[in-house]
Amino acid sequence: MEHFDVLIVGAGLSGIGAGAHLRMECPNKSFAILEGRQAMGGTWDLFRYPGIRSDSDMYTLGYRFRPWQDPKAIADGPSILQYIRDTAEEFDLTEKIRYNHRVRRADWSSEDSCWTVESGNDNASEPTRYTCNFLYLCTGYYEYEDGYTPEWPDFEKYKGTVVHPQKWPENLDYTGKRVVVIGSGATAVTLVPAMAEKAGHVTMLQRSPSYVVSLPSQDKIANLLRRFLPAKAAYTISRWKNVLWGMFFYNLSRKRPALMKRIIAKGVKKEVGEEIAETHFKPSYDPWDQRLCLVPDSDLFRSIRDGRASVVTGQIESFTETGVRLASGEHLDADIIVTATGLVVKLMAGLQLVVDGKPVDLSKTMAYKGMMYSDVPNVASAFGYTNASWTLKCDLTAQYVCRLLKFMDRNGYASCTPRLSDPTVKPEPVLDFTSGYVQRALPTLPKQGSKMPWRLHQNYVKDLSMLRYGRLDDGTMEFRRRQQARIGIGTRKRSGVE
Ligand SMILES: Cc1cc2nc3c(=O)[nH]c(=O)nc-3n(C[C@H](O)[C@H](O)[C@H](O)COP(=O)(O)OP(=O)(O)OC[C@H]3O[C@@H](n4cnc5c(N)ncnc54)[C@H](O)[C@@H]3O)c2cc1C
Repeated sequence: MEHFDVLIVGAGLSGIGAGAHLRMECPNKSFAILEGRQAMGGTWDLFRYPGIRSDSDMYTLGYRFRPWQDPKAIADGPSILQYIRDTAEEFDLTEKIRYNHRVRRADWSSEDSCWTVESGNDNASEPTRYTCNFLYLCTGYYEYEDGYTPEWPDFEKYKGTVVHPQKWPENLDYTGKRVVVIGSGATAVTLVPAMAEKAGHVTMLQRSPSYVVSLPSQDKIANLLRRFLPAKAAYTISRWKNVLWGMFFYNLSRKRPALMKRIIAKGVKKEVGEEIAETHFKPSYDPWDQRLCLVPDSDLFRSIRDGRASVVTGQIESFTETGVRLASGEHLDADIIVTATGLVVKLMAGLQLVVDGKPVDLSKTMAYKGMMYSDVPNVASAFGYTNASWTLKCDLTAQYVCRLLKFMDRNGYASCTPRLSDPTVKPEPVLDFTSGYVQRALPTLPKQGSKMPWRLHQNYVKDLSMLRYGRLDDGTMEFRRRQQARIGIGTRKRSGVE
């Protein structure tokens, strides 16, 4: 059986970033990247719908160590995919990726201090087995097979074309067609203006409104800085500018929701007028109770103003052969219905972890520093922020994993396991979003704790100080030498500082 110091699972934005960090910070570690699909890029390879783009700026969605050089800060999917591929090239990671290796199970043996990982493609009768000391899960946060589609009355009666954005047909021709996009999230607000360019008319049908904010697709300050400064310096300044700006708006939204609502509403009214703004863009919840939708250069609002797209807010009563009937009695005729109704959130993508013969029930664990799990040794997960760019946290996680590996090497430790021994730490839901996809998934997700290091910060600056500079031997992480007594908990002084 082939053995690696580290096995990374997933070759998306996080997995490639994790590989690059290992190359830079732990050059002597052997590792491979096991990828279930036939291509790298994850999300940015899977999603192919018209207009696919980021809704974060690329100065924060890009890696800390590799400047984003494109003048567009809100980037299209193919450019992000190319950035991931170029990063893999630059750090010699392409040879490390083993495609068609969907990891289904990983067994930890305390006796051997290592994981045995089983992977294979969907048709393989016999899995391929590897062993590794540390398992680094970069598997994203949702089910790849299918997106989420609610159960609607008489959905099967509809005779037109139904498309889910997660499985976009390559040759779908919607020129001149009447399209109804069901949904009001990031995907719907991207699809509507993009499809409206060719379609006869696009209707965005939403059950309830979301907050939609327009931002310029180009960051003038970042582009100016790039003209006068070396790429890395310009990128670092732009990244920090956007991190702090994002944190400022998030905090303002949480502390002064009424003010933030007024600011957003004013922006929308200017774009589409009072009536549309009040009817279709005035949510009942506070900003950042759910993720805010960003639209570049007002593209959604422009398509509404031009009459190429419109918004309908209402409950679906049933489907007919030719479209959708609403509870209000209105009927929307459609040649194509796009169900932009979201993802199925699934951590570890169905991968079963087993510790010393006992299957891990993730929902019974507590997340440690937002990346490891109570009582599960030598595993870390790349899981990004919900209120900022994903990569900000994943970069910090990768750096932390590298620090941890080096610390263990220096001290001769074979395993590290977060142990919850403080009885005053109370379990809480790991995410506080009210969005349907989060609420549906919560029972399957780990908990967070009421105190550090079990509490998720959702704050880059706090995480940066904890993960880049904080103690590794923090009294909660238990370190063990091979087949040895517990080291770490309550023995911080004896086992020394990093
Ligand atoms: C349409 C869309 C737009 C988004 N836009 C933004 C944005 O603007 N800003 C932002 O911060 N976030 C955004 N996100 C979230 C986005 O998913 C992350 O930003 C980021 O791309 C996640 O990267 P990842 O590598 O962690 O996960 P993924 O991109 O999901 O990649 C995971 C990889 O792991 C592989 N994998 C999974 N399970 C296994 C297994 N068991 N065995 C082997 N391989 C496995 C998958 O095949 C995949 O290649 C968006 C998400 C979507 C769906």
